[in-house]
Amino acid sequence: MKLYSTNSPERTVDFKEAVFNSMPQDKGLYMPVEIPKLDAGFIDKIESCSLKEIAYEVAKNLLQDAIPDADLKAIIDDAINFPAPVVKLDGSTYVLELFHGPSLAFKDFGARFMSRVMGYFMEDGERTLNVLVATSGDTGGAVALGFLGVPNTQVTILYPKGKVSPIQELQLTTNGQNIRAVEIDGTFDDCQALVKLAFTDWELNEKFRLTSANSINIARLIPQTFYYFNAYAQLKREGKADVVFSVPSGNFGNIGAGLLAWKMGLPVKRFIAATNVNDTVPHFFKSGFYEPRPSVATLSNAMDVGNPSNWVRIMQLFEHDLEGVKKIVSAASYTDEQTREAVETIFEKYQYVVCPHTAIAWLAIEDYRKTSGDDLSAAVFLSTAHPCKFPDIYEGEIAKQVEIPAQVKELEGKPKQATGLKADFQVFKEFLMKA
Ligand SMILES: *Cc1c(COP(=O)(O)O)cnc(C)c1O
Repeated sequence: MKLYSTNSPERTVDFKEAVFNSMPQDKGLYMPVEIPKLDAGFIDKIESCSLKEIAYEVAKNLLQDAIPDADLKAIIDDAINFPAPVVKLDGSTYVLELFHGPSLAFKDFGARFMSRVMGYFMEDGERTLNVLVATSGDTGGAVALGFLGVPNTQVTILYPKGKVSPIQELQLTTNGQNIRAVEIDGTFDDCQALVKLAFTDWELNEKFRLTSANSINIARLIPQTFYYFNAYAQLKREGKADVVFSVPSGNFGNIGAGLLAWKMGLPVKRFIAATNVNDTVPHFFKSGFYEPRPSVATLSNAMDVGNPSNWVRIMQLFEHDLEGVKKIVSAASYTDEQTREAVETIFEKYQYVVCPHTAIAWLAIEDYRKTSGDDLSAAVFLSTAHPCKFPDIYEGEIAKQVEIPAQVKELEGKPKQATGLKADFQVFKEFLMKA
């Protein structure tokens, strides 16, 4: 597999380099030079395949010879070890549950696959890989649990004190082994700034082999294509073919993966990018102007992104032609008030509890139904996190229905291990240097 940078298409690297670098020197993003179509025979019989079988076929198609078959199979077997069921709510409305992994969010797909690919590419005697990551909640949990126990890796997670939910904090701070949590007295932006400074500090880079493992890493994007194919397979089993996917979007990695799947030959009628009031992309669709803005805090905080880092990948897939994007993608944005209402409506209608991010994807489906006049044979909204991660927004009957999964119950008695630090780079650097 060869990849190019969106900023300098003529220079290509192999998969291993793209995985360890995350971002090219020129600050572009890595994209596959070739996106081969899957064999039509495979799509024809996809309904007879398991998630792992689908994942292998799709990964093989993209990675080509970057990882030998048997090793790729082993990586997928280990990484994709939880289901991604499509749950039917009514005759034409479905929810794709992506929260059955260890951190209860769809980011487990990306983080688990990436950590295992990194572990695989590390040769004997290579220097320990030091993963630094800043989190506002979900990314840190997925990365921590993804790398937990992966040999030759050490993960440092920075999170803002008092600004993650209790379950998120448990996932960040109870791991031990090769995972350590740093509780920063500041905001998520402070955490991110500290990580960025660390990457530019020569002394730290001399002492450690630093990597960021963030959401732009191509090894996080690839495994997210698997569940789109797998959702299609499940719907095909039900006799549904015309599928619309609505994707709660922040950095646009999830929907980017869906579009990559579509480029590989997945039959999809339409994608809907659903955002909160951080509506840079929906605004772009309306006005034709791409105007990134500082992010605004919302209930769906994992989508509080003012300048979605994966957007350029999507534009690249369509050769920077917005009209081309619009042929297959719609976009819509919603307020916190609408989000709360949707959580309630979905519960009343279906006795089903969604997280605030997921509620936004449902809203976009409902609107699309109304405005397009299309009665949609299979509208699928992606559920990106388990509701128990966002307990503050539920009241009364709904709150009672939010179950705590076994993965979380296991963590509940464990002691919190985190180093508290000021939001100060010198302090953070000293902490890293001593370790
Ligand atoms: C990260 C996240 C999103 C946004 O996904 P992107 O790939 O950044 O668009 C949505 N919902 C939840 C729960 C998340 O953790």
